Amino acid sequence: MKDDNSYIKRIIGFIAVSLIGVLILNALVVPALTKAQTKAKTKETNYSFFLNQVDEGRVSQVKIENDEIRFEVVDEEGHSQLYTTYKMDDPDLVSRLHEHGEIIFNESFQENSLLVNFLVSWVLPIVILIVLWNLLFKGMAKHIGGNAMAFGKSNAKIYVKAQTGKTFDDVAGQDEAKEALEEIVDFLHNPSKYADIGADLPKGALLVGPPGTGKTLLAQAVAGEAEVPFFSISGSEFVEMFVGMGAAKVRDLFSQANEKAPCIVFIDEIDTIGKKRDGNLGGNDEREQTLNQLLTEMDGFDGKKGVVILAATNRPESLDPALLRPGRFDRRIPAELPDLAGREAILKVHAKKVKTEEDIDYNAIARATAGASGAELANIINEAALRAVRNGRNLVNQSDLEESVEVVIAGYQRKNAVISQKEKEIIAYHEIGHALVAAKQKDAAPVHKITIIPRTSGALGYTMQVDEGEKFLLTKEEALARIATLTGGRSAEELIFNSCTSGASNDIEQATKLARAMVTRYGMSDSFDMIALETITNQYLGGDASLACSPETAARIDDEVNSIVRTSHEKAIQILRDNIDKLHELAHFLLEKETITGEEFMDILNKETEPAV
Ligand code: ADP
Ligand code: MG
Ligand code: ZN
Repeated sequence: MKDDNSYIKRIIGFIAVSLIGVLILNALVVPALTKAQTKAKTKETNYSFFLNQVDEGRVSQVKIENDEIRFEVVDEEGHSQLYTTYKMDDPDLVSRLHEHGEIIFNESFQENSLLVNFLVSWVLPIVILIVLWNLLFKGMAKHIGGNAMAFGKSNAKIYVKAQTGKTFDDVAGQDEAKEALEEIVDFLHNPSKYADIGADLPKGALLVGPPGTGKTLLAQAVAGEAEVPFFSISGSEFVEMFVGMGAAKVRDLFSQANEKAPCIVFIDEIDTIGKKRDGNLGGNDEREQTLNQLLTEMDGFDGKKGVVILAATNRPESLDPALLRPGRFDRRIPAELPDLAGREAILKVHAKKVKTEEDIDYNAIARATAGASGAELANIINEAALRAVRNGRNLVNQSDLEESVEVVIAGYQRKNAVISQKEKEIIAYHEIGHALVAAKQKDAAPVHKITIIPRTSGALGYTMQVDEGEKFLLTKEEALARIATLTGGRSAEELIFNSCTSGASNDIEQATKLARAMVTRYGMSDSFDMIALETITNQYLGGDASLACSPETAARIDDEVNSIVRTSHEKAIQILRDNIDKLHELAHFLLEKETITGEEFMDILNKETEPAV
């Protein structure tokens, strides 16, 4: 009501101002303008020319003014021309003009048509006024509320299909996540199907998973498939310097979204704003306000209207519980690291973008990349293509892919690193130590490749083991075999050179980590039962563990870990001692070749040979 009133007032005011404006214009500006215009078109001439033209009957109108005479001459072709001439003291003039009855005499001189006159004196001023009015109004608005208004603008970008260009076909593996998201897309396409049966669709879905598993990609694919407006904003964009901005942005984002419904709102890296609120005084006020606003907005909008909120994070455990309760992000869509089939599919999707030879064995590459994320696999394909170009080929082949797996795992080859013969020998024995211990235990994964070419990651050589198929469980025997294999490198050094080197530091780290997990989390030790002694934080980001036990227990854990590693180490030494001939033979073979394959290794190991040279 109040709004209507002020609107009418404004219109009346506008009309009044316009009328006054037009009157003023007509009284002052228009005549002056007309005069100036006329002057420009008028030629000066002498009196006798004037009389001459009158006699010839060419003059159509005449106006006698104080000191000059203005007249219009129309020639045979119908062109008219205005003239002025000086007024003479000529008493005959009036009667002379009267003789020519067709001359319009001393009436208001018509230079333009009536229509033009009307336009100039009435319509034009009104148009000008409207323009002025608008400019003025906008300027004022800017001045008064401008800053506050710009403050509230969110930078949410609207993605439409053409822009993301991604569809579900671009996302390989992740079938469960795709299925859940396809339902949302379907809802946006025909909401009535769901409304008919009375189902409410989740208002929000949270994509969780380690980095590089395709969460952002999935959200873009949803946008591409849904063909509805797609608002995308990253959590960090909410948190900006000015207090109140984050909250204002949330408000603005949702009001935009409500206008554009059905649509999708995507908040990437939501943990930046959605962190648990804590009771600390002087906490991050700005962030909490933003979060509160987000919670309020999510309650406030009507789920049936078709606004779906997607968010992605790799730290779901740090999110505020209020955000996760039903009615907000009540659906959790995991994007896990891909399994064997998933890795193969991802490799194939990305391989479509590069030119490859016909007979690529993607399964072999997928087997060699256990634990790699989608982003890493995409990177492997790209590295392979780069390598092909470097080697002057125009198709990617199997060896490019295998080499790029190693590049991604261990870095580039350091071909010109200078390593002394003595050290090379130690490295060769070390690596064969790993491989031999692995090969002689039935629970260890087969050896795939051994190399002593140093890498940019700092590795001086490594032994690659590749499982035959996908493994989801780790048995105690496998864990112990793994630890024994890790100690195999050092064991060989001790056995052959009677000393040890720093080269085993990475092996030690890994062996300790695994042994520790066996004790504290897997319940695989002799002295503890099924007790969780450690909890995992940051599950998707490296998985740091924090102890949850008394200091005495912690000391016992250390003892237990030590005894597991020691037993395995002794076992490894025993295996090598039993196969010392093969150890020498293989180490010399590796030293000579620098890189050997799993088959070459097994051939030498399995053939009945006389002692090595
Ligand atoms: P995040 O989960 O960290 O948001 P992204 O969605 O940004 O990961 O993924 C990074 C890149 O990794 C993608 O652009 C894509 O090239 C590749 N990628 C990740 N997962 C997949 C997948 N399942 N299928 C195909 N490509 C993937
Ligand atoms: Mg992402
Ligand atoms: Zn090693």
